[in-house]
Amino acid sequence: MSRVRIIPSRHIGVSASLLAVAIGAAALLQGHTPASMAEDGGPRLTVERTRTLELPGGRRLTVTAIIDPQLVDPEEAMDELAPGSLPISVGAGGASAAFTIFDVWAKPDIPVTMHYSPDNAPAPQGISYTTGLVEGAIAKWDAIGSGMRVVYGELTSPIASMCDNPDGAGDGINTIQWRSNLRNGVLGSTCTVTNGRLDAGLRVVEADIVFSTKFNWSFGEVTPLDAYDWRSTLLHELGHVIGLGHTTTADAVMLASLARGVQRRTPQDDDIQGVRSLYGPGPAPEAKPVPQIPAPPPGLTRRATLPVVGKGE
Ligand SMILES: [Zn+2]
Repeated sequence: MSRVRIIPSRHIGVSASLLAVAIGAAALLQGHTPASMAEDGGPRLTVERTRTLELPGGRRLTVTAIIDPQLVDPEEAMDELAPGSLPISVGAGGASAAFTIFDVWAKPDIPVTMHYSPDNAPAPQGISYTTGLVEGAIAKWDAIGSGMRVVYGELTSPIASMCDNPDGAGDGINTIQWRSNLRNGVLGSTCTVTNGRLDAGLRVVEADIVFSTKFNWSFGEVTPLDAYDWRSTLLHELGHVIGLGHTTTADAVMLASLARGVQRRTPQDDDIQGVRSLYGPGPAPEAKPVPQIPAPPPGLTRRATLPVVGKGE
């Protein structure tokens, strides 16, 4: 609609749309040329695996890792990331991210603060750039209107993460950090600690995310066909942090896999409904004050109460 509004001729507007479609089709075709297939050994798509591990003190760890299956066997990678853990599926095949086995945060622990350390971030535009991207992704989940609130917190230096030490005690600080020691083929992982009794409902007490510095990440507006979009991946992992599982709904942020060159940077209706089903629609919007219009005195029409402009000119 806005395109039609800013282009004076309706004809030009239509042509521009057709041109955009043609460019898009050309880009798609380009991504599937035999040359690029040969270079990579096939189209590249991430998979995710989720494992669970019982921790001392009745706590439980859930580890979800993003894996490039062309570079590493996913189950082998999971055995290394979380030794002794058992596989679980995260809403696999569900039609909505609301169908989740992830656990939710207790009300007193909301808003959830996610602390980010840009140390080691492979950002070509400087580490402050990724800080802005993290703030932006958090704000997108926070802004959808639900009982879940997520806010940004800073980390001045790297600290321990549950993803570094899956059977560790945890520190209750939710972090997003970069790691250079993740196995080849593992793009990153989200590690969630829950507490409580299974029959009484587990509650999340800590959630940490790590990303691998070894990957060809893209951070910019345009995502090249040979790179994974970090903003989309971050938004997806934050979805797990707040309790969402996977969905099969097209274009949703919580789709289980992401192809190189593809962006999914905004929560879609399915994602939004998922969060609202977990936490409710959120506080009712504050009532806006309604301007008071005094009733006209008897015998006068409302028009007579309006100021008269330009009288006597
Ligand atoms: Zn996922």
